[in-house]
Amino acid sequence: MDLPLIYHPDYVVPLPIGHRFPMAKFKNLYDCLLRDGVATIEQFHQPDRPPSPWIELIHDSDYVNAYCTGTLDAKAQRRIGLPWSPALVNRTCTAVGGTILTAQLALKTGLACNTAGGTHHAFPAHGSGFCIFNDLAIAARYLQQIGLVHKVLIVDLDVHQGDGTAFIFQNDESVFTFSMHCEINFPGTKQKSDLDVPLRAGMEDDEYLQTLDRYLPDLLTHVKPDLVLYDAGIDPHLDDRLGKLNLTDTGLYRREMQVLTTCLSLGCPVACVIGGGYSEDMNALVYRHSLLHRAASNVYRQYRL
Ligand SMILES: [Zn+2]
Repeated sequence: MDLPLIYHPDYVVPLPIGHRFPMAKFKNLYDCLLRDGVATIEQFHQPDRPPSPWIELIHDSDYVNAYCTGTLDAKAQRRIGLPWSPALVNRTCTAVGGTILTAQLALKTGLACNTAGGTHHAFPAHGSGFCIFNDLAIAARYLQQIGLVHKVLIVDLDVHQGDGTAFIFQNDESVFTFSMHCEINFPGTKQKSDLDVPLRAGMEDDEYLQTLDRYLPDLLTHVKPDLVLYDAGIDPHLDDRLGKLNLTDTGLYRREMQVLTTCLSLGCPVACVIGGGYSEDMNALVYRHSLLHRAASNVYRQYRL
């Protein structure tokens, strides 16, 4: 089996013209992977929309119901930052299904990548920062519930702290949350992950990668997870509108290789989601997200998974 990739056409829904969330990137990423020969069409798996009880393993049923029926109050809706529509509800749930499927396939093959996911600012009873339901948390909990995993490590390298995920698992030893993020970036109020590594603004490739290397191998040895869920946000890039770190494309590619080889060399399966990335230049943005899938393809071959 080739490296499993996960995509659904419903990952993209219309937003008002000029909206600052780059919604088109998911379809553009899918097209880019095929066009550049990173993947073939046979490698793509299409997720189903998960039933509400799966989402309610993490989220309050009142919140799930209010969001899905469009009855969330205006303040809660503004905090999410995406205009509500029935299509967005479907997109939100399907993307959660995508991360669940990614995790299931990663357990079978050792490595799998979604072309969406990483909604780490979602809390049990509210959304925030373009995040509505926390796909990482739901996937971890669902796989635990059906007995496929006991211990999960969430490696969150998006430039913003994974505050929702940290909050959800703050008293839960079965899910270890690791967030390496820019210390002065959103969210203003940080939560407590099991391991937070706040970085100073402006950090460049070498120092970033050395910092990661100081923590990740020991963490894997110490936590001994059955599965790593990896949020590969590319917003630490120097051209990112919401970033504040100074990584290059090469630095991001080196990061993906470092994370994936470190995990796989220790025999730990990895399910990847793309996380945040915000740039005016859509082509550059999509290429940057594709670095994850390019690295994963190389590592997958290298380890003959
Ligand atoms: Zn982010």
